Amino acid sequence: MRKLETVAALRTHLQPLSRAGKRIGFVPTMGALHEGHRSLMRAARKECEIVVASIFVNPTQFGPGEDFEKYPRPLEKDLAACREEGVDVVFVPEVGEIYPPGAVTRVSVARLTEGLCGRHRPGHFDGVTTVVAKLFNIVQPDKAYFGQKDAQQAAVIRQMVRDLIWPIQIVVCPTVREGDGLAMSSRNAYLSPEQRRQALCLSKALHWAQGQIETGRGDVQKITAAMREQIEAAGPCEIDYIEVVDAETLEPKTSAVGRCLVALAVRIGPARLIDNVLVDAGGAGR
Ligand code: AMP
Repeated sequence: MRKLETVAALRTHLQPLSRAGKRIGFVPTMGALHEGHRSLMRAARKECEIVVASIFVNPTQFGPGEDFEKYPRPLEKDLAACREEGVDVVFVPEVGEIYPPGAVTRVSVARLTEGLCGRHRPGHFDGVTTVVAKLFNIVQPDKAYFGQKDAQQAAVIRQMVRDLIWPIQIVVCPTVREGDGLAMSSRNAYLSPEQRRQALCLSKALHWAQGQIETGRGDVQKITAAMREQIEAAGPCEIDYIEVVDAETLEPKTSAVGRCLVALAVRIGPARLIDNVLVDAGGAGR
């Protein structure tokens, strides 16, 4: 496995491989790797001849007062995980490599970024699309792998690739969960044992909502109100949002029919946790 730190070194390494017709799969991450990230690497390993992963804690997607400084950076462990998953190249750039002094260009996707996390983290998705656009231009992958865990991010990136007419296939892989149901996240490390137990209420509420919708009880107002009650009953928390939206457009729904995304973001102690389930409720919109 090669660990490369500069754009020039990465391009020099990948260009001949790409010219030789090798299919390049790319997994962008912020490190602190867990089974969720590994599942993306495994999918890339199956489908592509060359697997590139990046580890870059992107400052522009963090707002003021968010956890950029304290975000975990266990680099040696992360490199070992990449090696175990058969990654060919790990790109680990410094901030100045991706944002050279004087850089002022931003990539911004409208509409899809307005609701859900976009409403609560102003500028977050501009940071995400800007860094992913830069990484795509550096790596020039054939396929790029993202997790359903960050459903809005995956939808936004899909839209960006479509709008900018880039020949990159976006693959979205299922959310990987702990044995008890909690969605894996690098931020779970911020939770105390007590908060970790409490956090289980999120996947439980989503699972409950899925059952309701699948059995035809699709009143969104009722579903989200009951989820709120369940989550608040589990312990102290701050709910950013609990919503049922259209799985493709991310527009809010009043009735859960068609392909729905039930999504939430909740702060428990120091961690802002997000999770979602996709439900195909049939009926109109199918
Ligand atoms: P991050 O390091 O948080 O930027 O995440 C890098 C990629 O891993 C993103 O595409 C995430 O959606 C994906 N990811 C994070 N957690 C999970 C998970 N539990 N299951 C599947 N994919 C995940």
